[in-house]
Amino acid sequence: MRCPYCKTDDDKVIDTRTGDEGLAIRRRRECLHCGRRYTTHERLEESPIKVTKKDGRVESFDRKKIVAGIARALRKRPLSSEEIENLSDSVEREIFEQNDRQVASSLIGETIMRHLHQVDPVAYVRFASVYREFSQVSEFIDEIRALAGADTAAKTV
Ligand SMILES: [Zn+2]
Repeated sequence: MRCPYCKTDDDKVIDTRTGDEGLAIRRRRECLHCGRRYTTHERLEESPIKVTKKDGRVESFDRKKIVAGIARALRKRPLSSEEIENLSDSVEREIFEQNDRQVASSLIGETIMRHLHQVDPVAYVRFASVYREFSQVSEFIDEIRALAGADTAAKTV
């Protein structure tokens, strides 16, 4: 690693830590030339998890797609981009914890839905309508009824 201060490529690692739920490695380095210290971050470039699509195609797990899906569902809802990131983190963590190498895209969709359900019912119905490909108004109504029902059930407990 080239020192950001004196540009000499001669350093030693003085500390290594994993961060970001084990998806990133942080190294504290010391330049052997000027003695200054700096930090580098290493991130997995290729996710170890593969996603199986409905049509059988397989692609690499892509966090950006989760963030995009969640952000789309939460458009104009009162949640900050930080909250969207946190939500994406929880979804990602759950998927990584429960799946080793391969995960069905439908399971990712269900996981996102479950998390959205907890934070914003409107976003949840939005996401579900796209994800489950609602083609009829009645499907919307069923979903909203189910939501309202779950709400009442929760309140009576
Ligand atoms: Zn240096």
